Amino acid sequence: MPESDEEWRELLTDEEYRILREKGTEPRFSSELIDYDGEGTFTCAGCGAELFDSGTKFGSNTGWPSFYDAKEGAVEFERDTSHGMVRTEVLCATCGGHLGHVFEDGPDPTGKRFCINGAALDVEE
Ligand SMILES: [Zn+2]
Repeated sequence: MPESDEEWRELLTDEEYRILREKGTEPRFSSELIDYDGEGTFTCAGCGAELFDSGTKFGSNTGWPSFYDAKEGAVEFERDTSHGMVRTEVLCATCGGHLGHVFEDGPDPTGKRFCINGAALDVEE
């Protein structure tokens, strides 16, 4: 696991670094993972930790990969008041990387909508 900012820069692509380490957001509908409907586990693009099961992925039509649940203990939450909004930020519990946000308008069974940057994810089939 990288320990310094310099090491993260070497490990990640520019886009991954901007999102995971600088809390950036990828453009809507830019991720190939939005339409991914295969079986697998979505992992952190930064550290490889398992974050989401493909079974919890759903089509939200928001422009970002969306899930109704995360794997137990895989993510952490932080209150985010940037951009004049009050949101709940979702971070990788292992490396602290920024993944996206979670909203309360998701489908059953959780009612949650994890809105996640595809660039912050890899998929293992
Ligand atoms: Zn991570």
